[in-house]
Amino acid sequence: MQAITAETLEAVRETVIAFMQKEVAPHMAEVEARGVFPRDLVSKAGTAGLYGALFPESVGGTNLGYQAAAVISEELTRADARFAACNNQQGSTCPYCIYAAGTREQVLRYVPDLLAGKTIGMMSLTEPGGGSDPLGNMKTRAVRDGDVYRLNGSKMFASMANETDVGVLFAKTDPDAGYKGVTAFIVEPKKYPGFSAKPIKTLGLSKALRTCAVFLDDFVVPVENRLGQEGEGFQIAMHALQMGRITVAAKALGIARACFEDAIGYANTRLVRGQPIGKFQMIQADVADMATNIEATRLMVYRAARLMDQGLPSNRLASMAKYHASLTAKHAADKAQQFFGGYGLAEEYRISWLTCYADLVFTGEGSANVQRILIAEDALGYKKADRHQRQQRFRDPRRQDVADE
Ligand SMILES: Cc1cc2nc3c(=O)[nH]c(=O)nc-3n(C[C@H](O)[C@H](O)[C@H](O)COP(=O)(O)OP(=O)(O)OC[C@H]3O[C@@H](n4cnc5c(N)ncnc54)[C@H](O)[C@@H]3O)c2cc1C
Repeated sequence: MQAITAETLEAVRETVIAFMQKEVAPHMAEVEARGVFPRDLVSKAGTAGLYGALFPESVGGTNLGYQAAAVISEELTRADARFAACNNQQGSTCPYCIYAAGTREQVLRYVPDLLAGKTIGMMSLTEPGGGSDPLGNMKTRAVRDGDVYRLNGSKMFASMANETDVGVLFAKTDPDAGYKGVTAFIVEPKKYPGFSAKPIKTLGLSKALRTCAVFLDDFVVPVENRLGQEGEGFQIAMHALQMGRITVAAKALGIARACFEDAIGYANTRLVRGQPIGKFQMIQADVADMATNIEATRLMVYRAARLMDQGLPSNRLASMAKYHASLTAKHAADKAQQFFGGYGLAEEYRISWLTCYADLVFTGEGSANVQRILIAEDALGYKKADRHQRQQRFRDPRRQDVADE
């Protein structure tokens, strides 16, 4: 596999910037006002190849790799964090689970349409009992009944669940078997009965790309939609989340940059005592801290992504990148909001809601504390963060083309 060049990465960046300016920016105000999921825009992003960087061409991907996926995630989010909320469902964790653990038939049936933005994805692991310990808190049960499984229980914060055509959902098939009791399922809520999703009212997040509470009442999943073997679900989930951490870190970087750009724009134009606030040294101190944090985060995110492209151990660095990027996003959001004074709370300015996306990346997909535990236990020699070998039975979409099987 050839290493991606800096020129190619810049071309990818330019493509995403142009796509967001031309196709998404003109419509997002209306999308938010109507609160309707923008299927047409997601489909255009899929057609433009924005969800395919981690997958081979045989399933509609571009196979550009983790650095390119990070660039795409960063730029989509920088331009509009609300529209970027479905990146994972379309181009990362959801199709990755299917590609890694699915049969050839499952991969060919579901992954191309997700990457093309023709179907809407979902990855539902978290339950009401808590997301930091998804195994301990998993109460959802799947019981086999002839040719189908029947799923009962509830899930929490399942993003895009009210729209999803094809998702991956985790449930216990054997509650006494620890992590070996969890099984992954490819779910099709529009096709089978027993699934309902209720959008959660959230502060500052998109009114159109929503996260949901999910209720499963004898929800039917055909046996052929089981992903991997019974008992493999938890490893499938961890594998996908580990891989997806870098795109979440890049998302946090995108949020930080958006906050920074708005802060600079405002600091140069807002006059107080007859001069732009950017001339005040306390404002400059914040600008310097934001700029430095962003550069440090950029180095970490792209170093981890490069290691991933090379197939080298990267779990520790990816965790550090995600943790650092989320701190950078929170800091940039907080400072930018202060620059805006009272207007930082006015909906008219996007900084009023960007702060909520900064909070989200701090908590979502492995909270800050969960990352700190991993980093500290590694440093203290209790548990090596990079101890896991790649699971041979899971396909690596960057190196194993399903078309060759
Ligand atoms: C908008 C949004 C979208 C989401 N989308 C999805 C999705 O699509 N699919 C999905 O499965 N999940 C999704 N999530 C869930 C997300 O991953 C969880 O919110 C996250 O894992 C944290 O879980 P929790 O909110 O239940 O917090 P808890 O697990 O209850 O944790 C509460 C607090 O305790 C801290 N904590 C936990 N353990 C420790 C410890 N050992 N030491 C110190 N502190 C600790 C945590 O850091 C956190 O600050 C989403 C969440 C949000 C808000």
